[in-house]
Amino acid sequence: MLKIYSTACFQVDNECKKLQPHGLQSIIAQSRDYEKLKTVWEGWRNVSGKRMRQDFAKWVKLSNEAIKDGKQYKNLGESWRSAYGPGFVKKIEKLFHKIEELYRLFHAYVRNTLIKKYGAKYFKDNLIPAHILGNMWAQDWANINELLLPYKERLDVTGEMVKQGYNISKMFHQAEHFFTSIGLKNMTEKFWNQSVFEKISKRDMVCHASAWDLMATNDFRIKMCTEITMEDFVTIHHEMGHIQYYQQYEKQPVYFRNGANPGFHEAVGDTLALSVSTPQHLEKLSLVKNYTNSYEAEINYLMLMALDKLVFVPFAYVMDKFRWNVFSGEISEDEYTAKWWEYKCKYQGIRAPVKRTEDDFDPGAKMHIAGAVPYIRYFVSYIIQFQFHKALCDKIGFKGPLHKCDIYEKEEAGKAFADMLQLGSSVSWEDALEKITGKKKMDASAMLDYFEPLKKWLKNHTDESTIGWSCKNVIKTSSSSTSKKEPFKTFILLSVFYVSIWINF
Ligand SMILES: [Zn+2]
Repeated sequence: MLKIYSTACFQVDNECKKLQPHGLQSIIAQSRDYEKLKTVWEGWRNVSGKRMRQDFAKWVKLSNEAIKDGKQYKNLGESWRSAYGPGFVKKIEKLFHKIEELYRLFHAYVRNTLIKKYGAKYFKDNLIPAHILGNMWAQDWANINELLLPYKERLDVTGEMVKQGYNISKMFHQAEHFFTSIGLKNMTEKFWNQSVFEKISKRDMVCHASAWDLMATNDFRIKMCTEITMEDFVTIHHEMGHIQYYQQYEKQPVYFRNGANPGFHEAVGDTLALSVSTPQHLEKLSLVKNYTNSYEAEINYLMLMALDKLVFVPFAYVMDKFRWNVFSGEISEDEYTAKWWEYKCKYQGIRAPVKRTEDDFDPGAKMHIAGAVPYIRYFVSYIIQFQFHKALCDKIGFKGPLHKCDIYEKEEAGKAFADMLQLGSSVSWEDALEKITGKKKMDASAMLDYFEPLKKWLKNHTDESTIGWSCKNVIKTSSSSTSKKEPFKTFILLSVFYVSIWINF
């Protein structure tokens, strides 16, 4: 499945384009041509997900058989969730409901604004077509911010990076500098010598950014096909956060050389990036010039962050809710597409721009499903990174709105973070969370705090009658493929890798 995914290309503009770099995802990010976007959106799904539908079904069956043989879990979903302890599904549902009101408000604003651009006919039942949100999977909508930000006070960090001749090495060193500025560790010599920082030409690569703990002395690496953009600058911090965690818990016994839970691992770099991406900090890096610290600029900034962080939460939920229910048998093979779009509608308020059938397999158009990587860790991360951010800002005595806090050069913050990171998985994640935040529970309040000024603004600028959407017309798909039933070989090779890999959302 991953081979299908990483070698897939789709013919557009006389070239068979891959996803990235400079490929199909770039078109989705940059084009505002409704029809062209639709062609690329569908094209990518035809050459990726659709081609692995039967492999996926087979993989589910085999994985479940293997898990059941261990007699500990009823299915693979249960095994995946075991990292988080009992009652986890309910906790996630509760966290989602906590941010739901803000999400629906934001969704209404985005939709109403996009209607002005594309016309009301595309927004039936108040649903947003999935292909016009600037991201191949509609997981992050920041690429279309120029259509949505209400005020002219814009940040053009990517433009500034290009103008200043930023290169990949500078981006990585600048990220490292943030870590060391708060007293965290330098990247190692092996890191700089052995990492892959850009796409190797003429080679098929899984370009999705990842961070590797080779479990040998000082050997930690990143693999990434970096492009000179603000988005990738943030991703570098994300990946470096994994490396930092590896380094901090390196002295633990092998068994505990892991995150307190997978969501913690994903949250380290992102927590720092919440400081790095503040206009105040970007100004220190000379990536923002003459920033006016006005209310309008603040709203624009919060909206930009919501396009990245807030909209991601329901997306991440659907990714694993779908798979959990496939693993448990609640979703059968002949309703993959129907259920996928049912969830997409229910939680995200988006719809497919073209007709889908049970021959398609849109989940497989996303790397983590092709590559069998659990996804709820990113949901957890997006909630707790705000808890971490708030805790660290409290530690440095920051007074003021959370979205303005920058922990740069504050060693007290770095120390508090390191004290928790060093524990690895030697304590429960609840205890690790308590160590840094003083509380044992995941809580969306910090995230809501952060976006509070935006929420007020949205309430004043959104017609209440436009909030919400309907899923009554979500396509009921038809099954035209009768999947071949073949006897499965129950031979599974389990290999133990003493390598720990963390990849990007
Ligand atoms: Zn990651």
